[in-house]
Amino acid sequence: MTKKTAIVIGSGMGGLTSAVLLGMAGYEVTVHEQHFRPGGLLHRFYREGAAYDTGFHYCGGIGHDDILGACLRHLGVFDEIAFQPLDEDRFDRLVFPDFEFQVPVGWARYRQALVDAFPHEQAGIDALLADMMLAIDEYGLYRFKVDVNVPAFLRWEGTALLDLIKTHVRDPKLIAVLCGQGVLYGVSPDKAPFGLHSVILHHFVRGAYRIDGGGDRLAKVMVQRIKSLGGTVKLKSRVSQVVVEDRKAVGVLLDSGEEQRADFVVSNMHPRVLLDHLPPGAVRKAYRSRVLDQRVGIAHIGVYVQLDGRADCIGNSNIYRHMSLDPVQSFDPVDDHCPFYFATAPNEAHVGVGKRRHDIVLMLATLPWERVSEWDGSPVKNRPEAYEAVKQRTQDLCVDQLMRDFPSLRGKVTRLESSTGLSTRHYTESPQGAMYGHYHSVAQMGRYRPSQVIRIRNFLQVGQSVFTPGVLGATLSAYYGCGLYLGQDRLLAELKASR
Ligand SMILES: Cc1cc2nc3c(=O)[nH]c(=O)nc-3n(C[C@H](O)[C@H](O)[C@H](O)COP(=O)(O)OP(=O)(O)OC[C@H]3O[C@@H](n4cnc5c(N)ncnc54)[C@H](O)[C@@H]3O)c2cc1C
Repeated sequence: MTKKTAIVIGSGMGGLTSAVLLGMAGYEVTVHEQHFRPGGLLHRFYREGAAYDTGFHYCGGIGHDDILGACLRHLGVFDEIAFQPLDEDRFDRLVFPDFEFQVPVGWARYRQALVDAFPHEQAGIDALLADMMLAIDEYGLYRFKVDVNVPAFLRWEGTALLDLIKTHVRDPKLIAVLCGQGVLYGVSPDKAPFGLHSVILHHFVRGAYRIDGGGDRLAKVMVQRIKSLGGTVKLKSRVSQVVVEDRKAVGVLLDSGEEQRADFVVSNMHPRVLLDHLPPGAVRKAYRSRVLDQRVGIAHIGVYVQLDGRADCIGNSNIYRHMSLDPVQSFDPVDDHCPFYFATAPNEAHVGVGKRRHDIVLMLATLPWERVSEWDGSPVKNRPEAYEAVKQRTQDLCVDQLMRDFPSLRGKVTRLESSTGLSTRHYTESPQGAMYGHYHSVAQMGRYRPSQVIRIRNFLQVGQSVFTPGVLGATLSAYYGCGLYLGQDRLLAELKASR
């Protein structure tokens, strides 16, 4: 009997997960990736042997009862990955102008840390965390469930984080702490869905791990798994159009001019980008307008600081540095100062030059697409001087703030690199260089979230732009989407068995 065939457009975590799931279900799968490396935002680049991670720093819980752990076990890649726990007592350090809050691993420990720091708010903290647990329970797949109480789910998706927090607690420092990790999904707390925030926070508080080899390693083991299932991953293979006949996806056209047919097509592109890859009339005008009307997520500057020596002052933690207590201001872009940055120093990101250790501090801060968009399309290796000047100035502001916060790093910097939304767009085709693709706000989630299944049959959209952000969201988008075709009950039963 001939095998059914599937084509996956894009090798982000959503695309790779779909490819493995389809391969496990007996499909002969081909993944087409436009870039020369697989992984999309999992991308890592190298300079003189040193590794620089771009869009993956850490993941959350991977235990037997954690959905990401269960997915990676079910996909057959878990044992191929070496997870390195971050500091269990303070995996995230939320640093404010005159105090610091350290986030420990474990939900009960997280609650205790909040109560210890803000004893006068104990009742409010407990009520808030109880609401979080209620919200999390409505995120079906995250809780190993298929059935969702839709009205309850929509209520949690439709409530802004900051609004709900303010119904429970008043202390501005506590509010700043509770909103302090918002860069994990890229939406300011006045617009972030309470439910989405709760799920992502819970995922990370359940356990915080780096991966040896960074996001690249995750992409690599997924590619190996696809191949072991008889699939193929074609790099530098750009899809120019999805071939649609009689409202059914039947294959893709490649930039090379080749046409490849398949029984099933999965797109890991942003829904807005997909529109440019569909033949006229494939989707309704109303759908097209809805997608085009939606706001794209925030863009960032990534700053990569290589040191002569170690970054011990940062330790085995992530730094979330806020320059004010106003959690909305932390989403302001770097302008004449750096209102917020994230920094981390993976222990393995060092190069052995002689016997010295060269740690790398990875930073990111908000830099809107509009600041760099005029140079979109300029040659990657030869951007205009005006662009380089904007990048340099923004990079300097970030690094100056880092040096003020960690003076022991002064004089140790041996190399500085940075990337902006232009790089993100170039390497992943994310529109407007968006970190998390879609803008996952109250106004654009819940019933307004882009649909995974559209008018075209035998076709599915996956990735963080049609689900929740991050590696967890991209992975679950594939489980949810593929489950619609392969049987959600069956996939869920398999997932539970993998716990
Ligand atoms: C700076 C930064 C830091 C982050 N840190 C973390 C973190 O610490 N932890 C975490 O969980 N998440 C993090 N994320 C988010 C995480 O990286 C993403 O959620 C996830 O990798 C996105 O996966 P995806 O499936 O949506 O696809 P993407 O990664 O967006 O990949 C889409 C792929 O499709 C390809 N493609 C597009 N068009 C075509 C075409 N026409 N033909 C062929 N291929 C095409 C692209 O080249 C790309 O490879 C971070 C993101 C950023 C930007």
